[in-house]
Amino acid sequence: MNPDSRTCPLCSASPAETFLGRAFDAPEQDTTVSICACPACDFAWQWPLERTAQESAAVFHSEYQAARKESYFDKERRGEVAALQLDFLDELGPPERTLLDIGCGDGTLATAAAQRRWAAVGLDPAMPEDAAPVATNLARPPRLIRGTLEQLGAGEQFMCVTLWDVVEHLPDPEPTLAQAWERVAPGGWLVLETGNYQSTERMLSGQHWWAWQLDHRWYFAPSTLARLLEPLRFRQSCLARRVLRPWSTGNAYNQPPSALQTALSIAKRPWRAQPIAAEHATRRQAAARWPEWSGLSIFTLALQK
Ligand SMILES: [Zn+2]
Repeated sequence: MNPDSRTCPLCSASPAETFLGRAFDAPEQDTTVSICACPACDFAWQWPLERTAQESAAVFHSEYQAARKESYFDKERRGEVAALQLDFLDELGPPERTLLDIGCGDGTLATAAAQRRWAAVGLDPAMPEDAAPVATNLARPPRLIRGTLEQLGAGEQFMCVTLWDVVEHLPDPEPTLAQAWERVAPGGWLVLETGNYQSTERMLSGQHWWAWQLDHRWYFAPSTLARLLEPLRFRQSCLARRVLRPWSTGNAYNQPPSALQTALSIAKRPWRAQPIAAEHATRRQAAARWPEWSGLSIFTLALQK
């Protein structure tokens, strides 16, 4: 995809709408990113780009190192996320438990998978130097590789190939996703997770959405990601019904407030009538536009080969 500020890199419609989002990952409060949004297909992208691909790689390498030094609680939380991710992979029902996790960071998921008797490989060009399986007593420890798909054996395929919070960072997603697809065994699944642009949360957050970030180049939703992946000719797709985070309560469908609920809320706080009416209208609009996923702030989409 070749972004510019006028034409949608996904559906070629123009013109795009442009605005500034507050950069959630910037150390300084007032840093912004330039966002372009396509009203035709509800896709958004960053332009001009804040970082080159090389700058991103350097930042991630140092961020992973820093994350390794965080408290046990954070590691525990990442373990809880991995457990939900593995539950979702089990729901897909792969005939064999073989996993390739692309962009695996320090290998938390691959290690958790190995503990559940998956044959797991974790791959990340920015893997920290000290990444190693936490549990060393595993019968089949995960293979953790600092590098790219080229480092895998030719023809090596897996029942689940996953990219969690990766696609939004890729300078050019299409070739990477096509390479990932080649690693999916027939009948297996490619699983992608990213923030949901077509969500109630994004609409309510305006310029302050958490996903506006220096390193996020693309803002997908289930429909736009499926559109990008159409050339892969997947057999079927499956969208996780919830956000795979232990602290998240969002379900795929967000029941919007009724007109009666709006009236009752305003009766309780009449001095806030205008913002309450506006917020409820936004909730109804999001639910009407994207009834199948407006409640998901982060979505997980699986495509079967
Ligand atoms: Zn578009």
